[in-house]
Parts: sequence; structure tokens; C-alpha cells
Amino acid sequence: MLELWFKRVVKNMLEKVEEFNMEKVIQEFETLTKDAGRVQRETLKRILEDNASAEYLQNLGLNGRTDPESFKACVPLVTHKELEPYIHRIIDGDTSSILTGKPITTMSLSSGTTQGKPKYLPWNDELFETTMQIYQTSFAYRNREFPIKNGKALSFIYSSKQFKTKGGVAAGTATTNVFRNSRYKREMKALQSQCCSPDEVIFGPDFFQSLYCHLLCGLIFHEEVQLVSSVFAHSIVHAFRTFEQVWEELCTDIKQGVLSSRITVPSIRAVMSKLLKPNPELANLIHAKCVGLSNWYGLIPELFPNAKYVYGIMTGSMEPYLKKMRHYAGELPLLTADYGSSEGWIAANVNPRLAPEFATYAVLPQIGYFEFIPLTQLENNDASSSFLSIDLNPVGLSEVKVGEEYEIVITNPAGLYRYRLGDVVKVMGFHNSTPELKFVRRSSLLLTINIDKNTEADLQLAVEAAGKVLAEEKLEVVDFTSHVDLSKEPGHYVIFWEINGEASEQVLGECCNCLDKSFVDAGYTSSRKVNCIGPLELRLVRRGTFQKILEHYLGLGATVSQYKTPRCVGPTNSTVLQILTDNVVKTYLKFNHLTKFKDSRKKTCPHCVLS
Ligand code: AMP
Repeated sequence: MLELWFKRVVKNMLEKVEEFNMEKVIQEFETLTKDAGRVQRETLKRILEDNASAEYLQNLGLNGRTDPESFKACVPLVTHKELEPYIHRIIDGDTSSILTGKPITTMSLSSGTTQGKPKYLPWNDELFETTMQIYQTSFAYRNREFPIKNGKALSFIYSSKQFKTKGGVAAGTATTNVFRNSRYKREMKALQSQCCSPDEVIFGPDFFQSLYCHLLCGLIFHEEVQLVSSVFAHSIVHAFRTFEQVWEELCTDIKQGVLSSRITVPSIRAVMSKLLKPNPELANLIHAKCVGLSNWYGLIPELFPNAKYVYGIMTGSMEPYLKKMRHYAGELPLLTADYGSSEGWIAANVNPRLAPEFATYAVLPQIGYFEFIPLTQLENNDASSSFLSIDLNPVGLSEVKVGEEYEIVITNPAGLYRYRLGDVVKVMGFHNSTPELKFVRRSSLLLTINIDKNTEADLQLAVEAAGKVLAEEKLEVVDFTSHVDLSKEPGHYVIFWEINGEASEQVLGECCNCLDKSFVDAGYTSSRKVNCIGPLELRLVRRGTFQKILEHYLGLGATVSQYKTPRCVGPTNSTVLQILTDNVVKTYLKFNHLTKFKDSRKKTCPHCVLS
């Protein structure tokens, strides 16, 4: 079976894209997952044989062995840090077989929003193949439940620039490497998910101009749009928040058939001018729909009456955007996309009917070799450090247990061997014999001062709880992040909030209390009691602050498509910290029974207690 699959992959690589056959793809996945353990062994064998001449593997003494036992005995667990010397040689132009048999000529740049700085990761054609494999697999299951026909996708996708490193290696974000592949468009057409915007818009150099034109294209093709999508859900929410600001201008453009002067990139102007014809009827229709909505509820189905669903990664750090997505989507289902990273894909959503909160991802056993470090093994160590412990003993894909949490270890066909991805997942069940994973969180700790340990998921829960208090005033948290302030003794947690209106002092004070109370980790609560950790501080920032942070990351080469708001800003991330600090308008502090606040906008605030 695996051989058949592999032959098909090779055939595809020879540029012959097969007609998409939903039943066949489902059948193949069912067969592969029925014998996931064997498929994993074969996948490892193939990866090790293909790359046997790589210097990295040669030095580890495998001597041609390709079985999991020898692999585990000879090859160490690594993080990105250990691979950096090899990766730098590749970037600097060393074309020998360093990590892979066939030298790497392209690098992916990870978003860098979770760890502060972007990382270079090897990219090759095999990774493009696995991307298409995962897209096809989840599409087949999705289309069985939510069929779409000959439609277009309003996809908020953005490609960053591809550049050459000083050693001549092409580099761009992983999504950019996918979008720029010559086969991408044809493959997406076969999946009836071709983007309704022209390439000039996707590849445009200015994010806002691309977004504006994505919206315009969506409106022009509003009847053909079958789905609204993005890579990560953040881009969808961001797009419709922007729509709320620019909808009248979009209507004017459509009415007059003249593109807004905001669009200055010549290639985008040229292509959009061809698409845009005066259409007062459409402009009036959109106008009437928009004014008829109550607080933009159900905007997506109103604008795109034939859309069947909204699609993008909606789990993990995207969960805080679900509420807003549901608001825009009205009755339309929200379908979470797949699970992967710049390091490689892992698992597909083959249960599309599950709401994102309950979504699981089934591992594709043929796209990489996966190991799982039981979280219990990490518990006594500082999971945020990149220590290399020979005591860690990951289990194989067939050995994981339902209900247990694990950190994922990836071996991929692009030169990563036993690479600790840094994600924690929970095994929820099995699809045949392959595990169905729930994404839990990044493994690194977010907030810690002494014995307290709070993760991204803990912060999210706290913000969700406090967000309910804010909702009493019909307001919502637009975005949030956190910081550990050690500038004064004792250190304390700082939560930055951007909200969508003016809330009363009392409610914000309650939100601050609620945030503090919602961190229930024993290390935190006991440290707070004895004042080893100071009172939590809620800092309210101006509208648009998180947009500035996004722009900062785009300036560093990140792409909106892969953007994730950093949920904790460390002391070394001084630019982002400065953006936040410069935009603070109010500060709330939790003092046991009393919350005190300072209004940075008022010179003489009667309640001000802070210096
Ligand atoms: P990047 O660094 O941009 O390649 O992002 C990859 C990271 O995004 C993964 O390691 C995960 O932490 C997160 N991620 C990717 N897919 C999902 C998903 N389906 N659910 C939750 N988080 C995800």
C-alpha cells in the first residue's frame, strides 16, 4: 500500500497532477491508518535510505540500519538549537549532503511569533508533497460532509517575499514556499478551493493593500464564493474587522468601477482594474446588506450566500478568536484545518463535523516518523528549556495511550531527525490505528516567576474568564498578551488587553481580579498568598496596538498567513514591549480585595495610586 502511495507521489512530482478522486483518497487513508505501525516503520526506512549519505546521519553510526530501535539508539533528540550549526552551513552556501542526501536549496522561515525570533528550517519537494497529501486527505473527508462544487475560495492568504541567503539559498516562510510552488494553483483547483484573488494580490508587497483587494475580489465574486478561509483563523477575524472599517469605500469602488487610491502597488492596480467594472447594482446590494446587519452578526453568509463553511486553523492559540468568528459566520459551520508546522505536517482533520473546541487531528503515518515524549517524563524538568536529556524515552505512534499528553518529536524527509517540535498534544482516541490528537499548547512555559508554572492554555483560560466579565458591558477583548515584570520586588504578571470600546472602571477592576483568580496553579496561588509574587496587573492598550505588533513582525519577514500573536513578551523582545508600553492607556492592579487603577490619559486622576 505504502509503495502504491509512494509511486503516486513520485508521479505527482513528475508534474502530472491526477484528477481528485475523493473516494480513492479516503480509501487510501483508511488503509494506511489500519496498519499505522507498519507504515511508520516503512516511512522511517524510506527517509533513512533516501538520506543515508547525509553527513549528519553518517556521523551517528547507523551503518545502514533503518529500524526504529537502531534509530532511537543512535540518533539523539534535538531542538533547533542543536541543528543550527548544520543549518547555518547550508544557508552559507555549503552544497554538500549535510542533513539530506539531496542538498537543500530552499529554507523555510518560521513565523517566530511563538519564540521571539524566526528560525530557518530545511524545505524540499517532499515537504510540498506532504502538504498536498494533508490538504487532499482533509478535503476528502470535509467534502463528504460539506460538499462544494466548482466554486472559489475567498482565501485571506499572503505570501512573503522569497529572498536569497548570502550563500544563495532561497528562503521564505513555509506558506510562501507552498504558494510559490508551480503546482500549488492546479492542486487547489482540483480541490475546488482556488483563491478568487489573482496572484498579484496574494504576492503583493503591502499587506493592507492585499487584504483590501482580497475583500474586493470576494465581493466581486460573491455568488461564486463557496468557502472563506485562511491558514490561521486570526487572518479571517482581522479581515472582517477591517471590512467593518472599509466597507463603504469598497462599495464606492464597485459602484464606480474605480479602484481606491489606497491601492498604489502598480501590479495590483493593473490586475484589479481589469476585474473591477462599474456595478451600482452590486454596490447597492452590499450596502443594503451591511446596513441591515445587527452589529455585523452573520456578515459572512450575508455577503457570500453560497458559502458552505469557514475554514482555517482554529485550535490552540487561535481559540480566543472563535467567538468573533462565530459572530461573523452566523449559522455557517466553522471547520478547523489541519495540524502542522514549518517543520512539517503532522495530522489532518478527518472529523470536520466536530466544533473546533472538540476537534482532533488524525496523524498521517506516511508523511513522517513521529515519536511522543510522555509529559510525565518532562514534568520534573523545566519544560521551557531546551535541555537534552538521555533520560527521555519517547514512545512510538502505536504505543501512545488515550487520555495521555505528549510532546511531539518529528523525523521528516527534509533533514530533521528526532526533532522536538515543542508542542503538547493529548491523545483523544484512534482513527483505525493512528492516534487522533488534540492540540493542547506549546510546551514552553509562558508565565513563571518562581515555583509558579502557567502555560499558554492557562493564560487563555484566565482571559476567557475575565472576558465574560467584560461581556457584561457588551465589550470584547480584541487581542491580548502577557509579560512577567521583574523590575520591582516581588515580580508580578502583567496582562495587556486591547478591547473594542470603553468599559467602566468597576468592570475593568473586576476583570483584573478575575484574571488574578483564574490562575489556579498551586505554585501561583501559594506564592501570591505569601507575596512572593506581586498583584497581577491589567494594562489596557489603545485600539490598534496589536495591529502595530503585527506590522512589526511583518517588517521582520513574517507573513500574515502564519501570524500568531505572541502570548507572552519576554524581556529580550524589547521592540514589542516598547510598542505595548507606549500604548498603555490604563493600568489596573489587584490588591487582595481592592483593585486600583491609573489612567495614563488623565493628568490628575483622583483614583490614581501608582507612581
Ligand atoms: P509556524 O512556526 O508558523 O510553522 O507554526 C507552527 C505552530 O503552529 C505549531 O508548532 C503549533 O504550535 C501551531 N499550530 C499549527 N497547526 C495547529 C493546529 N491545527 N492547532 C493548534 N496549533 C497549531
